[in-house]
Amino acid sequence: MSTLYIVATPIGNLEDISMRALRTLGEVDFILCEDTRVTRVLLEHYQIKTPTISYHHHSGMKKINEIIDLLAAGKNLALVSDAGTPGISDPGGKLIQAVLEKLGGEVHPVKFGSAGIPPEAELFNGVKIESVPGPSAVTAALSISGIPTDKFVFLGFPPHKKGRQKFIRKIIESEWPAVVYESKHRIIKFLEELNKLAEKDNLTSVVVVRELSKMHETVYRGNLESIIEKIKNNKDDQRGEFVVIIGK
Ligand code: SAM
Repeated sequence: MSTLYIVATPIGNLEDISMRALRTLGEVDFILCEDTRVTRVLLEHYQIKTPTISYHHHSGMKKINEIIDLLAAGKNLALVSDAGTPGISDPGGKLIQAVLEKLGGEVHPVKFGSAGIPPEAELFNGVKIESVPGPSAVTAALSISGIPTDKFVFLGFPPHKKGRQKFIRKIIESEWPAVVYESKHRIIKFLEELNKLAEKDNLTSVVVVRELSKMHETVYRGNLESIIEKIKNNKDDQRGEFVVIIGK
């Protein structure tokens, strides 16, 4: 039986990786990487010599079929993304779906458009998909937010154009705290649009977390307007990666 391990890797601090993740990365036949150059830094740090294969958002069916062939040939693989947990706003879902359809014996009805593998494909009951859990920016940010987190909605990245206003309205109207990922290029734009659409809703319980587990980790808490002011007034505060939590 071959195994496809879905391995979480650090979101900043290279020490944030489990012993099981390191052992798995060292033992598999190949590591599937979102960006081999990024993962190389982690592998070199831990002196892991496993060969890598590139697998990212734009990988097509040809690459997926090559990966499926490796699994069918009995190879064990690990999937990692640049940071955090694969599949969480990162590549992974399409590959897992295709592996399950072709090799898993458990055929899921949802297809990924033309990437779908024919249902008559022979089933080979020999692949296990196993999670090697670890860091994710969503859980790390929630854990230090101070916002009640027994229930929350995770919305990933705001759409750039189509559906953007609807997305922001959903956040404002949400019954539960909402968690959003945003890049340095769009953080101010997103916060300002959120503030504008919220109008009288006056979002007073917002947490913006920047550069989790890195040297410049910063947490901004409180009223949305004051957070925007703080970030706008300091260029350094506009650098890095962001998670925004809109409390209720
Ligand atoms: N798979 C990853 C995870 O499990 O969190 C998320 C990948 S997504 C492509 C990248 C986004 O996650 C960034 O734009 C940012 O919103 C968030 N993120 C990742 N690392 C972060 C960090 N160290 N601090 C704050 N946000 C981070």
